[in-house]
Amino acid sequence: MPQTDADSKVILLVEDNLHNRRIFSGILRHYGYEVQEAVNGAEAVEMARSLVPDLILMDLSLPVMDGWEATRQIKAVAELTKIPVIALTAHAMAGDEDRAREVGCDGYLSKPISPTKVVEAVQRFIGEKV
Ligand code: MN
Repeated sequence: MPQTDADSKVILLVEDNLHNRRIFSGILRHYGYEVQEAVNGAEAVEMARSLVPDLILMDLSLPVMDGWEATRQIKAVAELTKIPVIALTAHAMAGDEDRAREVGCDGYLSKPISPTKVVEAVQRFIGEKV
């Protein structure tokens, strides 16, 4: 059931594609997560520092700063290093997943992906809402 809950877990969704952002935010909110959105890697690093989210969904192909570099910077901050980062990539190239793991990504999903699969991945890392 859709609900908003003060104790909801906070997900930082980093995605420059408006359509994907709407789809992923919509379903995650439906499942009771609080979703905050960043549209580029630099904004992701800033928002991770200020929000200290429970999980980060990180598109890898992003303007300003790519998702690999943003993840590397986030994982370098002591208070943020334990936050699970799930990488999302639209055009998976050989080596993308390895590079993502090298910079500290904890999970890896390739798009196109059904929104339900995104929710399942999030739940595997942080469980259901609250
Ligand atoms: Mn992108």
